[in-house]
Amino acid sequence: MVPFLRTLLAALLLTALAPLTARAASDDQKTFANSVVDRNTQAINDMADSLYFFGELGMQEFESTKLVRDTMTAAGFTVELGGAGMPTNFWAKWGSGKPYIVIETEVDALPGGSQTPDVFTHKPLVDGAPGHMEGHNTHSGVSTAAAFAVKQTLEKYHLPGTIAVHFGPAEESLGSRPFVVRAGYFKDVDAVIYLHIGDNFTTGAGLQDYAAISTRFAFHGKTAHAAIDPWDGKNALDAAELMDSGVAFLREQLLPSARVHRAITNGGLQPNIIPELTEVWYFVRDRTMQLAKQTQDKIVNIAKGAALMTGTTVDITYDASGWPQLSNKALSLVVQKNFDAVGMPAWTDTEQTYAKGLQKALNVKEVGLYTKPTPYGDRVQVAASNDSGDISWVVPAVTYTFPASVPGIQYHNWQAGVTPVSSIAHKGEIVGAKALADTILDFMTEPDVLAAARTEWLQVTKDAGYFSLLPPDAQPQVDMNKATMSKYRPAMSKYYLHKTPRYQ
Ligand SMILES: [Zn+2]
Repeated sequence: MVPFLRTLLAALLLTALAPLTARAASDDQKTFANSVVDRNTQAINDMADSLYFFGELGMQEFESTKLVRDTMTAAGFTVELGGAGMPTNFWAKWGSGKPYIVIETEVDALPGGSQTPDVFTHKPLVDGAPGHMEGHNTHSGVSTAAAFAVKQTLEKYHLPGTIAVHFGPAEESLGSRPFVVRAGYFKDVDAVIYLHIGDNFTTGAGLQDYAAISTRFAFHGKTAHAAIDPWDGKNALDAAELMDSGVAFLREQLLPSARVHRAITNGGLQPNIIPELTEVWYFVRDRTMQLAKQTQDKIVNIAKGAALMTGTTVDITYDASGWPQLSNKALSLVVQKNFDAVGMPAWTDTEQTYAKGLQKALNVKEVGLYTKPTPYGDRVQVAASNDSGDISWVVPAVTYTFPASVPGIQYHNWQAGVTPVSSIAHKGEIVGAKALADTILDFMTEPDVLAAARTEWLQVTKDAGYFSLLPPDAQPQVDMNKATMSKYRPAMSKYYLHKTPRYQ
């Protein structure tokens, strides 16, 4: 080949490759973003710690969202509280135009989760009070610090783009995201990052968790004296029990992946009164929403059959639902690259000893803290559910777990309340915020990644498109947990930290 032609071909090749390589966020930009996180270490940890002591249940995240609102308003963000009909729905936004990236997370605690930090036995701070038994408090610092670092970087390098942080209320009750999706918040969004605490940096592709549908079945009968004139009654408890039997027979025909669980929340008053009202609360789950919906439809028919058999009527009320989280491969590869580049925190011997001590106390393997991110592809679909799943069926989304807790501890258990304000959590928050900011900068500066993500998402959702489980008249249950919070808040407020974190 003549030298001229070779040069020409090389030039053409370079031009063709340029969009794939030249537009990733530069090392300079990431170094700058990470320095913004570093200089705000104290504020990040203060915010996360403050939320731990607020310990607020779903829909009652008032102190938590107020503190974060003040921090983000002072940082130059526009904050909306109360959207989609929920007073604690938090949306902080900065920037203009495309790309538009959203960090999706939650800050609610759990009932009965009060725990004294860094104590390796069950020791509530306030007896019976709620508390953080997953570490959702850490989400506040990581998400807002990453968004702030992105803002500072876009400003410094004169880059276009919009960044937002969303706290969906009541994640632990699958309480809010379908309403936020219905309200149209994700219409113009290009990509969503699902942020959650874990014991390592972990991402993945494909279905990450299960679809879930939560429904209440109330049977209405007619009361009568159970000895004198039982024939005048219509027994609502019989209806509930016949429904239970019907579902038990259905189990043989269910796929191994199906999960059906229930609680009888009202079983009548006392034996000599024919019950006129009973209620059974069902959760149906499966690998996909289509499969969960098939089982749900059968259970609805069983309920109607039970009512028919007993001459009662049944009210079927939607409680909550969540699609499985669909994590996008194109996005997850970028996330993993940034996990590997930022790396795990430099744990001290004291922290490793602390972790092993907790593991020993809990009788789990004493592996200490992980020192390398989870290798790509190791994540499998779990049978738990999260209402944020709905979002990934209206916009490409990716899971993002950061290392801020101890391997082997069980969430939704006091054990997970031991560590969320420890130095392990604090260090995890910092690396979590850095890799998150770097990932978002890559999304914003590499249009090819977002285009590939969109193409992949269209392909995957083509045959299994989103439908909302919300009945048209459904409204968020904004009063859930209100009574519990008012009962415990006075005692809990003695532990508030009274910090005012400010980013700079
Ligand atoms: Zn969670």
